[in-house]
Amino acid sequence: MLVEDISKDMSRLVEAADWMHSEARSSAKLKADNLQFIIGYPMDLLNDTFLDAQYKQNNLAVDSFLHNMMVVHKQIEEETFRKYRSEFKGADYTSVNAMVVEVNAYYVPNVLGLPLGILQEPVFNSERPQYMNYGGIGYVIGHESSHGFDENGRLVNHNGTLEMWWDEDTLSSFQEKVRCMVEQYSNITNKDTNVTVNGVLTQSENIADNVGIKLAYRAYQRHVAAHGPEPRIPLRFPDGSSLELSPNQMFWVSFAYFQCAKLSPQELDRTMRTE
Ligand SMILES: [Zn+2]
Repeated sequence: MLVEDISKDMSRLVEAADWMHSEARSSAKLKADNLQFIIGYPMDLLNDTFLDAQYKQNNLAVDSFLHNMMVVHKQIEEETFRKYRSEFKGADYTSVNAMVVEVNAYYVPNVLGLPLGILQEPVFNSERPQYMNYGGIGYVIGHESSHGFDENGRLVNHNGTLEMWWDEDTLSSFQEKVRCMVEQYSNITNKDTNVTVNGVLTQSENIADNVGIKLAYRAYQRHVAAHGPEPRIPLRFPDGSSLELSPNQMFWVSFAYFQCAKLSPQELDRTMRTE
């Protein structure tokens, strides 16, 4: 399955990471192999006893949206504060906030969540050519799993508990490589608004994007090697012209299609500065 393909490639990638010391590399491998997935929704959502206990304090009103939002947010805040003093026992329903219908994916320590909302077109559909799925949800899985090995991920070990599992040398090799990425992205300017990407604040997301697409492309190549090449589809335009693209080229088109969005100039500036 696609999820397994990509996570296996993450393990292969960390095994080959020459900038990590051998001890850090084996911890990284353990961490990659330990990654858990919540696909669609957490299983807790099917447990009535759990849900009744979880929400029994909440007095929701049938006629006040504001009241209900305040009750729910108060509960989320209280949960968060309660967790500060309790031992981490793995991510559950309360820590992932169960964003079932959100078109997003998330990474919390050692758990990668793919809510139902993102498991649809243009990101995923089991019936369509696999190059589209690898260029869509495949990239998302690669992106999220790479967060386990970045500036924040280095502070959390394979059990999901706080531990700096990198030695000094591994950290400085990482920072040297990151400098390269920071420099590359700091050179991108939107000519219309004259805003330049903040390469420092956006570094984790840029690393995740690079790792994500690399893993997805590799996993797709393995998929083709195992199942044989996918048929080419000639794209025909209304004027009768056509564009013949190979499945590998369609992988990149699918990725670009899913990334394509219309942003207001203000939102574009914000993402260039922070994401
Ligand atoms: Zn990310």
